[in-house]
Amino acid sequence: MKENRIYNFNAGPAALPLEVLEEIKDSFLNFAGSGMSITEISHRSKWFDDVINDAIARTRRLLNMDDTFHVLFIQGGASMQFCMIPMNLLHEGDTADYVNTGTWSTKAIKEAEILGKTVNVVASSEDENYSYIPKDIPFNSNAIYAHITSNNTIKGTQWASFPETGGVPLIADMSSDIMCGPFDVDKFGLIYAGAQKNIGPAGVCMVIIRDDMLKRVPDTLPSMLKYTTYASKNSMFNTPPCFAVYTIQLVLKWLEETIGGLDKMEAINREKAGLLYKVMDSSDFYSGTVKPDSRSLMNVTFRLPDEDLEKLFIEQALENGLGGLKGHRSVGGCRASIYNATPLAAIEALTDFMKNFEQKNG
Ligand SMILES: *Cc1c(COP(=O)(O)O)cnc(C)c1O
Repeated sequence: MKENRIYNFNAGPAALPLEVLEEIKDSFLNFAGSGMSITEISHRSKWFDDVINDAIARTRRLLNMDDTFHVLFIQGGASMQFCMIPMNLLHEGDTADYVNTGTWSTKAIKEAEILGKTVNVVASSEDENYSYIPKDIPFNSNAIYAHITSNNTIKGTQWASFPETGGVPLIADMSSDIMCGPFDVDKFGLIYAGAQKNIGPAGVCMVIIRDDMLKRVPDTLPSMLKYTTYASKNSMFNTPPCFAVYTIQLVLKWLEETIGGLDKMEAINREKAGLLYKVMDSSDFYSGTVKPDSRSLMNVTFRLPDEDLEKLFIEQALENGLGGLKGHRSVGGCRASIYNATPLAAIEALTDFMKNFEQKNG
């Protein structure tokens, strides 16, 4: 690896493509001939306009979206969206459906409830420690939206296909799997993703919102909490997180021009995850923690025979240049987060290490 970098399996903030980091480094002192760094230029300049508009155009192309969708950049992370969504979209007497598939869904539900909104939890996998994605969900036809977490970063599950809601717009927290492959955007009223997992650094959340959802936004909300403020000002009502948006632009450029689009990205992601799940499936030493049909392509969670071995595994992995393999503090065990930017070579290094470790300790 270059410049003593390790293979980074962190869950978030997470690995970025090396090409993107190098481009940032090369242009950091003099951005686009401006004589200034991207962190020093005005957000009202033509330079930054080009950055944000290119990020939006690339998002539209990658996800094959028409202009009934708006691409917004909002601070406060995905967690801010847990409250902005119900504030903006649910009015007196309205109800929304939520599917609870883990920690992040639970938080989204809690924030809507704090606001006094009527939330129907129409399905939950809590009964089996969130180890699967529910099927045959009884969505309410009069719900304003149906909220899901498309990839459960902590538990390691992912929706293999999106549920039929009978016309109710889906809203998805795609923080940890947006752009991992193509999907049909037309089912969605709103998509949001904290950037620091799969598309950029911390500091900004990408929000994709459909026109008809924007029409629901009440005038009575403070400006900074209204989607319409961001939509009408191209996300520049106030100073946006310029550096974070710029990094997203470069990641999207990498996806389009280096990877070759989301079909190619998905094929690579399937190959990467496949290698890791194969090691688990052919070993009694490593065991996956989720149902095979609900396995995530992005966060691969597994256990070893006991906690001492897990500790040793994580320690020795790091000595071998493989970082970030500790499971979330709430669940323990091990987790390899293998987002878009994690190269195949990283997975190969990890699977080699796993086989070796099993031989020595199994
Ligand atoms: C990380 C994560 C969040 C929280 O994101 P913040 O940007 O820290 O608020 C929410 N949802 C999912 C699925 C996540 O992975």
